[in-house]
Amino acid sequence: MNILGYMVVLRPTYLIDGDVTDIDLDTLARDGIKGIIFDLDSTIMAPRSGRITAEAATWLELARNRFQLAVVSNNKSDPYIKQVQEHLNMTVLGRAAKPSTKLFLQVLEMFQLRADQVAVVGDRPLTDVWGGQRAGMKTVLVLPLKTMNEPAWILFFRKLERCFIKS
Ligand SMILES: [Mg+2]
Repeated sequence: MNILGYMVVLRPTYLIDGDVTDIDLDTLARDGIKGIIFDLDSTIMAPRSGRITAEAATWLELARNRFQLAVVSNNKSDPYIKQVQEHLNMTVLGRAAKPSTKLFLQVLEMFQLRADQVAVVGDRPLTDVWGGQRAGMKTVLVLPLKTMNEPAWILFFRKLERCFIKS
């Protein structure tokens, strides 16, 4: 582990060996979770695609029946965020600057839940998991969507970032 790894050790509440659609909703419900905040890029949608895959959409509808849902993204394009919000028909907030907790706490206020009743789901340890942890929420680290193809250099940095994780 490198020097940064000693400074920050992140333990997601749930480490999923798969993408968002592999999350077991029964487990989350059993553990008292009532709201889910999703990361956008690579977690529920391929970056810049603006559209969700059929598989992810089906899973998201199952989740919507049982949990309050929202999306918190670091994406800075307001038109894109608005487009995604209309496509998904749920609250989607951009410019989050995760690991800042600001927008996580704003969603918490909207959900009217306690922080420990909310799970943050994302593919990035240093933004999604760290931010969720700092907000006192449960965290779910997933792999990027199976339906995406990523360049080798991105995969390399993903592996590097996973050095921060202890399960
Ligand atoms: Mg992401």
